[in-house]
Amino acid sequence: MRWLLVLLLLSGAVAVGLRYLPPAWDPRAPLDLTAPPNLLTPLKLAWLRQSPAACRAAFARSGIAFTPLPDRASDAGCALENTLRLPQTPRGIPADPTVTCPLAAAWVLFERNSLQPAASAHLGSGVAAIRHFGTYACRNVNHATAGRRSQHATANAIDVAAFVLRDGREVSVLRDWGGQGDRAAFLRAVRDGACRWFGAVLGPDHNAAHRNHFHLDMGRWQACR
Ligand SMILES: [Zn+2]
Repeated sequence: MRWLLVLLLLSGAVAVGLRYLPPAWDPRAPLDLTAPPNLLTPLKLAWLRQSPAACRAAFARSGIAFTPLPDRASDAGCALENTLRLPQTPRGIPADPTVTCPLAAAWVLFERNSLQPAASAHLGSGVAAIRHFGTYACRNVNHATAGRRSQHATANAIDVAAFVLRDGREVSVLRDWGGQGDRAAFLRAVRDGACRWFGAVLGPDHNAAHRNHFHLDMGRWQACR
C-alpha cells in the first residue's frame, strides 16, 4: 500500500515536471534543428530514423523550408522512402540532391553546429558552398558486384568532396587531408564533428576509395574514421 502511494506520488511529479519543461528539454516535443543541441538532441535525431512523421515535424518545428519527394518502390533494394530535397544550407549545394529525411536532419545539425564553427575556428571564414559526388545511386557497398546494398541505394548517404569558403578559398578532401596546416586541421574537425550527427562517417583514414571525399550516412552501422 505504501509503495502504491510512493508510485502515485512519483508519477504525479513526473506528470507535473513534463508539463513545465521547456520544449528543448521535453522528450515529446519535435526536434528543433535550429536550437542549440543538448543531451536530448542525439536521442531525438535517432528517433527520426524510426518515425517519418517525427522527421517532418522536426522540419516544420524548425521553420526550415523543405521539399518532400514521392516514395518510389524498387524490387532491387533501391527504394526511395521518406525522402526530400537536401535543404540548401549552406546555399551552394549543387544538383538539389535527394536524401532521406533523417539524413537531411543530421545535415542541418552538422552544418550549423560542426561545419560552420570548424571553418570559423580554423580558417576564419564561413562555408558558402560544398562540392559533392551525389547521394542516390542504386549500387552495393564499394561498387562491388555482390554483397550488401550501399546506404546510397536508398539516398541515405552523401559523399562530400570539398568546401568552398565565403572568401573564395576551396578546401578539398583529396588535396588537403594529408597536409599539416589549417586546411588539414579544418578537415579533421569536420570529420570529427560529423561523427556527432551521422551514423557512419568514412574519409581518407578508412580506405583508398574514400581518399577524395567524406561519406556521411544514416544507416545502422556506426563508424567514424
Ligand atoms: Zn558514399
